[in-house]
Amino acid sequence: MVEQRIEVRNPYDGSLIGSVPRGTAADVDRAVRAARSVMSDAPLAPFERAEILDRAAQLLRERQDDFARTIAIEAAKPIKTARVEAQRAISTFQFSAAVARTLTGEMVPLDASDAGAGKLGFVLRVPVGVVGAISPFNFPLNLVAHKIAPAIAAGCAVVLKPASQTPFSAIKLADLLLDECGLPDGWLTVVTGSGGDVGNAIVDHPDIALITFTGSPPVGWGIRERAPRKRVGLELGNNAPVVIEPSGDWRTAASKIKVAGFSHAGQSCISTQRVFVHRSIHDDFAATLVDAVRELVVGDPLDEATDVSALIAPSEAERVKSWIDGAVAGGAKVLTGGDVEGRLLEPTVLTDVTPDMKVCSEEVFGPVVALAAYDDVDDALRLANDTRYGLQAAIFTNELDVALRAIQTLDFGGVLVNEVPTWRTDQMPYGGLRDSGNTREGPAYAVREMTEERLVVIQQ
Ligand code: NAP
Repeated sequence: MVEQRIEVRNPYDGSLIGSVPRGTAADVDRAVRAARSVMSDAPLAPFERAEILDRAAQLLRERQDDFARTIAIEAAKPIKTARVEAQRAISTFQFSAAVARTLTGEMVPLDASDAGAGKLGFVLRVPVGVVGAISPFNFPLNLVAHKIAPAIAAGCAVVLKPASQTPFSAIKLADLLLDECGLPDGWLTVVTGSGGDVGNAIVDHPDIALITFTGSPPVGWGIRERAPRKRVGLELGNNAPVVIEPSGDWRTAASKIKVAGFSHAGQSCISTQRVFVHRSIHDDFAATLVDAVRELVVGDPLDEATDVSALIAPSEAERVKSWIDGAVAGGAKVLTGGDVEGRLLEPTVLTDVTPDMKVCSEEVFGPVVALAAYDDVDDALRLANDTRYGLQAAIFTNELDVALRAIQTLDFGGVLVNEVPTWRTDQMPYGGLRDSGNTREGPAYAVREMTEERLVVIQQ
């Protein structure tokens, strides 16, 4: 039979980058069988896992530019932003190595009750089983690293399906681990193919114990429903809010939002999207932000000067443009941007938005920041919470009582004070509430999910 292939195109200019096999359920099954057999026949000791992860971090550092170039070409991520992603992947492997070295259970005080007298109890953390990983297009290296590296640290073999639009960073990383870092065959198999075929086959496979998924809420929650007996970790979308108080350093906020709202053309799950600004500073803040956003260089992702490039597909640029137009029809004002030129959507700042507009109520996933003025900080916190998402939120204020109120009130997986909601470092617990997901990533937290607690009781 002729092997079917999926063509992968550069989102910036539409040119053909290459192609990958269109995998099937049979490929997934082969990969799962190999994974099960290495886990049972040749488990990796924690020191071996750590050494493999350390080697990967080392080689990633040596080849950071090469990985960055692959990310830039397949995802249209500006090269300087792609370098940051590659740098973060190094960190993800380093922290995973640290977790592998320190993985431990705890003592259980069995003799704290009569019945347990004379018994010694402790908990061992053992690998949960084969991990099925499904990753999105927007961080094609580091979000794959956030799945593979903790799984190796936990002692789990992995079957990975990368996004069809951006498979090459994942394939390159897998080659590095298998060919150069000492990860034996079977511990990691990349199966490329569509979500409907390969994705569903991973979700349905009876010998996959845990699914780790990053992507859109409809697909994620569909997987949760489809696999009720598996552990399913979901990292999903968001429409990240930030509240800017007059006491806060709003100039710094504007310069941070210039990056946080437009990095990778807003295609980050914690892209700063909804900005609530106190009315007394709204106009000055808006003018400062607009001046900063107009400095952004839009163009070729491989050009060192580029800050913002194309969205992942022309249809995405059209979708975001239609949401901007819908907001304007509803009374919003475009302060800058708003037009599509070829495959590029101009970085856009809107104001006078209302919560019912799609640019506020949905995840824009494009280079759009929406401002709204408020009079009372409690109203702003209420509006920030008025969302079905719950990943990260932020406030800029220099008043301790307001900061503490925000920390108590903002109902999100992470709350940041005097920082944008887009800030993330790779060892922190990262994940959302409600439609944004049900788990926390970051190697130490992911490894907890990827291991079972096995109680051991010894009669002394
Ligand atoms: P997506 O369309 O949901 O795709 C994600 C992955 O799921 C891809 O590998 C896709 O395969 C696969 N897939 C599609 N349908 C499937 C199915 N029925 N069963 C199993 N797998 C299936 O998301 P995306 O457009 O790549 O990514 C954007 C979304 O990810 C945004 O909502 C963003 O907020 C979210 N995200 C969240 C985080 C986080 O940590 N919370 C981080 C980054 C991104 P194909 O590519 O073959 O369709």
